[in-house]
Amino acid sequence: MAKPKVAFYWNASCGGCEEAVVDLAEDILKVADAVEIVLWPVALDFKRKDVEAMKDGEIAVAFLNGGIRTSEQESWAKLLRDKAQLIVAFGSCAHLGGVPGLANFYDRDEVFDAAYLSAPSNDNPDGVTPQTETTMPEGDLELPEVWDTVHALDQVIDVDYYLPGCAPPPDLIMDAVNAILTGNLPAKGSVLAPDKSLCDTCPRNETKPDKIEISELKRPHMTMMDPEKCFLAEGVICMGPATRSGCGERCINANMPCRGCFGPTREVKDQGAKMLSALASLIDIEDPEEMEKVADSIPDPAGLSYMYSLATSLLTRKQKRQG
Ligand code: SF4
Ligand code: SF4
Repeated sequence: MAKPKVAFYWNASCGGCEEAVVDLAEDILKVADAVEIVLWPVALDFKRKDVEAMKDGEIAVAFLNGGIRTSEQESWAKLLRDKAQLIVAFGSCAHLGGVPGLANFYDRDEVFDAAYLSAPSNDNPDGVTPQTETTMPEGDLELPEVWDTVHALDQVIDVDYYLPGCAPPPDLIMDAVNAILTGNLPAKGSVLAPDKSLCDTCPRNETKPDKIEISELKRPHMTMMDPEKCFLAEGVICMGPATRSGCGERCINANMPCRGCFGPTREVKDQGAKMLSALASLIDIEDPEEMEKVADSIPDPAGLSYMYSLATSLLTRKQKRQG
């Protein structure tokens, strides 16, 4: 019997999700044995024309990681949507926009300026920034257009399932692969991880206070963190109250607070707003001046609370004031 065809593709991401596939260790051999990999640019040399030549729906499942920020990524996502029966948004950036989605606090010109012109490490005397056309001795080249806004995958194509995490952990990947191979799948649109908050499964939950009385919020490098105690009890912001569980508490077990890479649970519409309201309800300070001091002690509250989810938040991006 023919093996189901599987594709992996990489959009705006760091490459960590590709590492996560390799991290399956010996399980990757089971996957390779059960499926036929027809596209995996990071590891195998398939070409776009190989995919274009396939029939619509010929690929059983395509795992796409990364957000969508260029015309090329959009075009690949649409091609794979046509060719695959199932699309899985793989990892935080495909799921929520991820860290690349923080670029939505700026526009394309500001991003180009920071990346190509004003960074002290740049050596760019002619002020060259990415163009969509360029002429080389061999002829004219057309290059992808970089967009103003980073999108999550489902803002560009229809997505069947979401595998959360930066990167998704091996056990969740294998559960998803097994569910797909056996056809034992939940409802379309499901996030393939438990629908509980990280605090519910966190080993430090018992030390989480109902109220915290603190005059400053600390960043992890500013304090010696007790390896047993809830981070919030120590005045260190932890995104656990606003984040879905299922990662195995990877950061917590390494004595680092959660940064929210699994995204929110189903009932939460906006992870950043949920975290800010959780914080506000925890801090037991009446005096407005004291309160302002606490608020000022978070250097980048928007960047912290929307670290992975800005592109899919109610804000989506920073709007420039007109006029
Ligand atoms: S806030 Fe963080 S450390 Fe505290 S219980 Fe929740 S996940 Fe655990
Ligand atoms: S603890 Fe938070 S940031 Fe760390 S892996 Fe888990 S969900 Fe992601």
